Amino acid sequence: MREINTIFLRPGKEKPVLNRHPWIFSGAVSRVDDGAADGSIVSVRDGSGRHIGYGYYNGRSRINVRMLSFGDRFPDRDHLHHLMIVARDKRRSSGVISRTNAWRAVFSEGDFLPGLIADSYDGHLVIQILTLGIERMREDIIGLLAEVFSPSSIYERSDHAGRSIEGLSDRIGQVTGSTPEEIPIVENGLNYIVDVHRGQKTGFFIDQRENRALVAGIAAGRSALNLFSYTGGFSVAALAGGALEAVSIDVSEPALTMARRNAGLNALEDRSAFIAADAFEYLRDNVLPHDLIIIDPPAFAKNKESVPSACRGYKEINLQAIRKCPAGSLILTCSCSRFIGMDLFQKVVFGAASDAGRSVSILYAGQHPADHPVSVFCPETSYLKSLLLHVD
Ligand code: SAH
Repeated sequence: MREINTIFLRPGKEKPVLNRHPWIFSGAVSRVDDGAADGSIVSVRDGSGRHIGYGYYNGRSRINVRMLSFGDRFPDRDHLHHLMIVARDKRRSSGVISRTNAWRAVFSEGDFLPGLIADSYDGHLVIQILTLGIERMREDIIGLLAEVFSPSSIYERSDHAGRSIEGLSDRIGQVTGSTPEEIPIVENGLNYIVDVHRGQKTGFFIDQRENRALVAGIAAGRSALNLFSYTGGFSVAALAGGALEAVSIDVSEPALTMARRNAGLNALEDRSAFIAADAFEYLRDNVLPHDLIIIDPPAFAKNKESVPSACRGYKEINLQAIRKCPAGSLILTCSCSRFIGMDLFQKVVFGAASDAGRSVSILYAGQHPADHPVSVFCPETSYLKSLLLHVD
């Protein structure tokens, strides 16, 4: 018999869990068994003691429990195996795997495995363990990733800021096999190098794959300005799509060095410029001859409390771009803050357009691609919002 500790929900707080939302905030919890250790599996019960499902507990986090299963299904190795098989099948059936060698294999809550990210780069997996609960299952998780995805190697990039809240220190290094520092990938027929050891996150922003294809399709004859360019993904896409030039702006010198190499890999460096600058200052201080502008900043809102200041940041950057761009410009503007929904993001863009006094229409609205599935039970898994704007 398993010894499973229990947490009890306050009366009336069970509805989201019954609706399979995976997060239980501390405010919803009335009592926790004394023996429930941080990181351990607990049975979640409603106010009257009825079992709802299982999750892992961490009293240090505002999210006390992240659910792993509902009803009587215990989240043992077999269950994790099932979730990983389903994750792999989603990537296969959506066709992602056959189109590119850079795809997200496991997307945390989006694959019902809260706290685990795994990205596949040319057959090498780069993983991020974000929570203590997953850390406790580390051995099983790594064994299952190896079994289900048959990677050439597994490398860990658990250097995510959220780990300290969980009581974890960073962990970076080789897990299985040998992962090259630089991995060549092909996305939308274009070549990029991913520095999985030193790059940001797991090395590449895979989630913008379809937006980069969109940019390639609308870039012909335009002058592109790629704000927050990182390693130049959108710049390469724009140039390959026939842009006359692409200017990449980022504060990170290493990112721009890689952006230059990525342009070179695709024989596109002659129409490229790379400027190390703060994107806000750059927009403020320069005239904008560019009629294709990409705005893909880091998440300005890291939590609910920072939403108002994040909105001011999004408004400012969009306002400057909308105000200064030539008539007929296209702007692809993005927010990857999970706390800012599409409605709010659209309101921010409305505010920017209104203050700029320009006529702006939305030509397309998008989100992240199929290898970042959205759980219908957890709207927060839909984090990337993008709008293609036309400015008159
Ligand atoms: N569009 C990129 C991903 C952008 S990630 C792609 O397709 O790959 C966000 C980038 O913004 C990071 O590279 C980070 O270095 C950069 N950044 C953060 N703050 C910035 C600022 N104030 N000005 C310019 N770049 C910034």
